[in-house]
Amino acid sequence: MATIRKVEAIAVALPMAKPMKMAGVEIRSADNLLVRVETVDGAVGWGEAASAPHMTGETVESMVAAARYLAPAIEGREAADIDAIEAHWDFALYGNHAAKSAIEMALRDLAGKAAGVPAWRLFGEQRRNRMAVLWLIGTGSQAGDVAEVEARKAAGFVAWKIKVGTGDPLEEARRSRAICDALGEGHLISADANQGYSVEQALDYVRAMSGSRLDFFEQPVRSRDLAGMARVAAAGALLIGADEGLHDLDDIERHHRLKAASGVSLKTIKLGGMRAVWEAGRLCDRLGMRVNLANKVAESSIGISGVLHLAAALPNLDWGLSITNQYLADDIVARPVRVVDGHAEVPQGAGLGVEVDEAKVERYRRAL
Ligand SMILES: [Mg+2]
Repeated sequence: MATIRKVEAIAVALPMAKPMKMAGVEIRSADNLLVRVETVDGAVGWGEAASAPHMTGETVESMVAAARYLAPAIEGREAADIDAIEAHWDFALYGNHAAKSAIEMALRDLAGKAAGVPAWRLFGEQRRNRMAVLWLIGTGSQAGDVAEVEARKAAGFVAWKIKVGTGDPLEEARRSRAICDALGEGHLISADANQGYSVEQALDYVRAMSGSRLDFFEQPVRSRDLAGMARVAAAGALLIGADEGLHDLDDIERHHRLKAASGVSLKTIKLGGMRAVWEAGRLCDRLGMRVNLANKVAESSIGISGVLHLAAALPNLDWGLSITNQYLADDIVARPVRVVDGHAEVPQGAGLGVEVDEAKVERYRRAL
């Protein structure tokens, strides 16, 4: 590999196919950071991170600023020295995991291209190639949700995430049950409150869902309320997953130790990169915790490919895979990752295996 010539931070606003409601926020465009790393011999690597201020504390503006703050210390280094680069930024800049994850993904893309291998091979062996993808359900009404589930089920989807946490928990449990009944056997079904319930509301929801087909319930209460998470888990009615509460490997161990969660949702933006997610997946395997791997709503095929390569290699993925370019009106690579019959395949080719369309990047670029 060669010396890094330039690290470029690019803010984009990618249009959503339709607005999506999540825990009280309506998402109309995906405000993401792209990182383009170029070496002196002209090789280019790309990375992406979604902005999720409620999850990582970072806005797209702060991510761009953080990436530009780190860039001078990365330019001039060997692209192969990812460990040294990560060690530097761990010391030089606290937190900012999403910004760091976009840079790290670009470096992994470069490393794979330089070695002529797909990115998954930088971590481990390929355990899977074609994976079921979760479909998000949150139309705003029970009839709308059931209609959507019927349509997507007919299209081949077998894995689901029901958005709750914004209304009356008993009402949301009735809606969730209607969805479970519409799906029947043979599906992976989850619900996600995105921290939206109080502990009492979460207990109402899990008791009302006891005996249902729901496989797990993600982040019922506030991310820092591990005692509350443990109370909801102790009700024993549903398996509880942690998402917003995880920012590093210590958080995963803490949830396990306090019996606050049986499984986790892993994202590069929370943990700080692909390698961090890989390490987290190995830790979960040792602890016997279930694993969901996810992009944030929504990312282009760059971020999606990063996650698909991790999905290929992780020891277990029993709580499924959420990829989110399917919610975008447009993508920014030559051959976008496609969900076919509810499943996605690991991109072929070296690095992330995507060919970025730089004209499209310019079209959706925000001046920051
Ligand atoms: Mg979640």
